[in-house]
Amino acid sequence: MHPDLKLAVELQAVDKEIARLSAEIAYLPRHIQEIESKLAGTQRQLEADRQGLAQNQRERRKLEGDIPPVQQKISKYKGQVFEVKTNEQYRALQHEIEFNEAEIRKIEDQILERMVAAEELEGRVKTAEKQLGAERAVAEKEKAEASARTQADMQLLAEFERRRAEYRGAMSADLVRAYDTLARTRKGVAVAEVRDSTCSECNVRLRPQAFQQVRSSDQILRCESCGRIQYYIPPAITEDVSETQMAPGPNG
Ligand SMILES: [Zn+2]
Repeated sequence: MHPDLKLAVELQAVDKEIARLSAEIAYLPRHIQEIESKLAGTQRQLEADRQGLAQNQRERRKLEGDIPPVQQKISKYKGQVFEVKTNEQYRALQHEIEFNEAEIRKIEDQILERMVAAEELEGRVKTAEKQLGAERAVAEKEKAEASARTQADMQLLAEFERRRAEYRGAMSADLVRAYDTLARTRKGVAVAEVRDSTCSECNVRLRPQAFQQVRSSDQILRCESCGRIQYYIPPAITEDVSETQMAPGPNG
């Protein structure tokens, strides 16, 4: 392989890694933001349920406070029963007593409703608290991982940037220019391997003559379809291991 072509192949590999790492480094803060906004959502739900429960308890206390005055009224009327002079007065008092007793039953029903609702709210608060605890633990772990990953990525990136500069420095200026133009116009990929006599980037099959050239020529050639710089690596000759293993040993 032409030494410059070898450098271009290396440069392309490094540039792909740089693009991957840069994308990952850019993604990680967004990932952390997603984790935190999910956490905030659970927190908000918990707060809403806690407030609902507090409201419920306030209403219940208020209702409970409403009962004694009504009871006092009933006691007062019951006391007056022995002092009435006419049947009419008696009936009026009985009516007041019944009316107020019905009031108390109404209030008690409302208290009961609050108690049932409170049970459900308490259950929801407990569930949300548990969920929040679990989500917090996961979030902390994921954040720590993301932060460690970013650190590692940055180190790798620095190393790849160093190698990138090294390869570019060693390549001919013409090839660097051609590489940069291709990278800019071909989604960052300037160099394409030819596999199975096909350009691995544009997937167009090479003419037999072009394929032959790529295999044998020491020139830097371009794909006739996408224009990318081409290279070809002959398939490795693999030993037939099975046959060696099957061969009878000295005692076989
Ligand atoms: Zn191509």
